[in-house]
Amino acid sequence: MLYVVATPIGNLEDLSPRAARILCEVAFVAAEDTRRTATLLRHVGSNAAMLVADEHHEQRAAQKIAQHLAAGNSVALVSDAGTPAISDPGGRIVAAIRAEGYRVVAVPGACAAAAALSIAGLTHAGGGWIFAGFLPTKTQERLRVLADWKARAGDDLALVFYEAPHRIDAALAALAEVFGAEREILIARELTKIFEQSVRLPLGEAVAWLNADPNHARGEFVLVVYPPADQAPFATKLDDNAEKVVHVLVDAGLPTKQVAQIAQQLTGAPRDLLYQRALDLKA
Ligand code: SAM
Repeated sequence: MLYVVATPIGNLEDLSPRAARILCEVAFVAAEDTRRTATLLRHVGSNAAMLVADEHHEQRAAQKIAQHLAAGNSVALVSDAGTPAISDPGGRIVAAIRAEGYRVVAVPGACAAAAALSIAGLTHAGGGWIFAGFLPTKTQERLRVLADWKARAGDDLALVFYEAPHRIDAALAALAEVFGAEREILIARELTKIFEQSVRLPLGEAVAWLNADPNHARGEFVLVVYPPADQAPFATKLDDNAEKVVHVLVDAGLPTKQVAQIAQQLTGAPRDLLYQRALDLKA
């Protein structure tokens, strides 16, 4: 069968034990860049033979993979970093192999988009998002495509973009122009690497943030545009007023449930937080 294997996006520890085992067990590894993948194969102790599967050779790679599968060998498909077929070659190979009736199996792992989404703290109803990948390099085309994504996402979906360091300033300026200064964005750079950084800010402040430190423009980027409908985050602690009200009601000897009920009516703070605080004070 064909295994589609995710590889790390920076931190080698993110290669799963299953991915390492499969890279050792298969006879062939189809790789976007064989030199880069050779380092990974050495790291896991794999002696698999490699074949080129970059974006210019997907058809030839699919033919070769089909031949290996027909001969009874398993094959792993990898890209340079992250999950194959996500802004990377692989999609057309998988389609061709599927069409020939072979089994295609996912070996999931690192993906920059999923990593950024996991730390974005999206709270909008449904949690939906659109993966928009890379933006066009030409200014007018970029603005047109962005306007298109904005319309498709509407008010309910987040948008995820990939961006390279030499275009990050142009991308942030274009995003601010299309979505407006108020719309919030997560800028996630160098995920899983030593200088990993992620900030959430309004698009109107994004270019200034970028220019505030030359390091901010370095590395690889995922940009998550929050939907306007993103809700306020959960409170994790009570403000001073709610704290005081809970104290007074607990001191007055009211049962915990009633403390939470009355304190919520008086302060509007979340009932579960009030309840927990009353329990803690009584303990
Ligand atoms: N297939 C990969 C995946 O699963 O995420 C994406 C490959 S795409 C050619 C490369 C782009 O992914 C980079 O330009 C950047 O936008 C994003 N990317 C990859 N690694 C990243 C990282 N460590 N931190 C932030 N973004 C990253």
